[in-house]
Amino acid sequence: MKLQGRRVLVTGSSQGIGREVALRLAQEGADVIVNYRSHPEEGESASAEIRALGRRSVAVGADLANVAEVRTLVERAAQELGGLDILVNNAGIEVHDAFLDVREEDYDRVLAVNLKGVFFATQSFARLRRNAGQPGGRVINISSVHEDLPFPNFTPYCASKGGLKMLMRNLSIELAPLGITVNNIAPGAIETPINAKLLHDPAKLSALVANIPLARLGKTQDVAGAVAFLASEDAAYVTGATLVVDGGLTWNYSEQ
Ligand code: NAD
Repeated sequence: MKLQGRRVLVTGSSQGIGREVALRLAQEGADVIVNYRSHPEEGESASAEIRALGRRSVAVGADLANVAEVRTLVERAAQELGGLDILVNNAGIEVHDAFLDVREEDYDRVLAVNLKGVFFATQSFARLRRNAGQPGGRVINISSVHEDLPFPNFTPYCASKGGLKMLMRNLSIELAPLGITVNNIAPGAIETPINAKLLHDPAKLSALVANIPLARLGKTQDVAGAVAFLASEDAAYVTGATLVVDGGLTWNYSEQ
């Protein structure tokens, strides 16, 4: 119960990593606002699980690609919980296409959700923290190993996560006077719906696992544990960092 009384917003938390993060932080004692885009019933079910733990939770719909909706989401989350202490920027999408075939609308959508949405959610959160008049706050971005590693045929995704790395590093300096720490978590290959195609392709899956020193895909719990650490007092002096959660994939990959 390291997060007793903390007020948290997790974007894109109706499924996958975000849902696991929301539940884990609630298990640690936090009240958590769940955000969904298109499936209110999934958002509501995540929220109900959190309330069953005795924590406060509401599911709020918002499209992270839309800045007006992002601002309303952060404000509504703060209204529901009487303030916000922790923002987890988790919502993210990817589009598979050769660079030569990428369509402008797909580029725009990936960059809007993965980078612009994080930018303005964090701005709204930081303004709230400033107006609250008490120093402190945590921003934790779910980035990817592809903030560093190339991933051919996912160029907009890599550009968004590379941008997220520099956004995080800049904000770790700019938001330090407000006492807000800003860090990224870089998951490797995690078992979630985003990887549905891969999970159903035994040949691709075993080739991938062969490159992971710990010889398995990551679980959503592996990422949620790292978020719980960065959200806790144990991480009070950690800012401007990327915590890689990839079973060793990055260094193995670098040696290919
Ligand atoms: P997922 O597809 O299961 O979940 C993505 C979540 O984001 C969903 O809840 C979805 O509703 C939400 N979302 C998507 N677009 C949205 C929008 N416009 N507005 C609001 N919410 C939106 O995928 P996941 O694997 O859980 O991914 C979560 C994060 O982790 C993403 O940022 C992703 O890039 C990152 N990540 C995942 C992996 C992996 O292997 N699964 C690896 C590295 C990084």
